[in-house]
Amino acid sequence: ATPTSIMVGTGRAAELGVLFRKGEALQALRDVSVIALDKTGTLTKGRPELTDLEPADGFQADEVLALVAAVETRSEHPIAEAIVAAARARGLALATIERFEAVPGFGVSARVAGRTVAVGADRYMTRLGLEVAAFRPTAQRLGEQGRSPLYAAIDGRLAAVIAVADPIKESTPAAIQALHALGLKVAMITGDNAATAAAIARQLGIDEVAAEVLPDGKVAALKRFRAGGAKVAFVGDGINDAPALAEADVGLAIGTGTDVAIEAADVVLMSGDLRGVPNAIALSQATIRNIK
Ligand code: ADP
Ligand code: MG
Repeated sequence: ATPTSIMVGTGRAAELGVLFRKGEALQALRDVSVIALDKTGTLTKGRPELTDLEPADGFQADEVLALVAAVETRSEHPIAEAIVAAARARGLALATIERFEAVPGFGVSARVAGRTVAVGADRYMTRLGLEVAAFRPTAQRLGEQGRSPLYAAIDGRLAAVIAVADPIKESTPAAIQALHALGLKVAMITGDNAATAAAIARQLGIDEVAAEVLPDGKVAALKRFRAGGAKVAFVGDGINDAPALAEADVGLAIGTGTDVAIEAADVVLMSGDLRGVPNAIALSQATIRNIK
């Protein structure tokens, strides 16, 4: 492509709210055949809400919610915000906490009102040596509804299965349809559990899923989508998306996401509207075609 045509192409892209940080990305995008997207904050709004809290025998819902929410006041995870908001909405008093610990991709724990409280994924409970088996059917049922199940433990006992649901962005279904119309394969990478990821993928018509991916595992997941020499673009918004944005053949960051993600990306979508992705690809195809 000539420098002029690239300038014209990137200029048109800017009008569509797509900022090319590197001119080469316009050419690289044309050759992409797989689009991998982060789920939370990219396909979804990244603002989950608490939908379920099913206490175990011997525990009460509000008691568990108050303890768990107290721990989550110290976490910046969107799940934490959902749990704290739900507790506040119910007017629950949140005790002060001690010995807070966050394990990225697993969950959080602390001492609250003389009790040890942990909340997080299945693998977090297992890591803490807790027996989860009896609660998995409940979590599975919630996951099949596209909700993200979590577990709460109090003093070494499973106290509740909790679920949050993160609404899909209005622009997501149309963006995926447009990507399919351009002949691309659409994949999703998420730390969320497999049943939830599968339910959301089915709902959106996503072709491939990598679920239960740990924060440092996104690059490896991305590399799997490169099988057979496919060129892969990755779309993400979070701090832990930065390595995958850098590794992808083209990295596209959501402009409303974290600075770390934007810095690592080749292309920035000025709004959270995912239709910027197919728009940018269509433009790259048109620009490169015109100058051949
Ligand atoms: P995602 O962006 O898909 O949520 P993360 O790697 O941030 O991926 O987290 C993976 C999983 O770890 C979450 O789905 C949740 O089960 C658990 N987790 C992480 N942080 C927290 C937290 N503060 N509270 C409860 N669960 C958490
Ligand atoms: Mg995200």
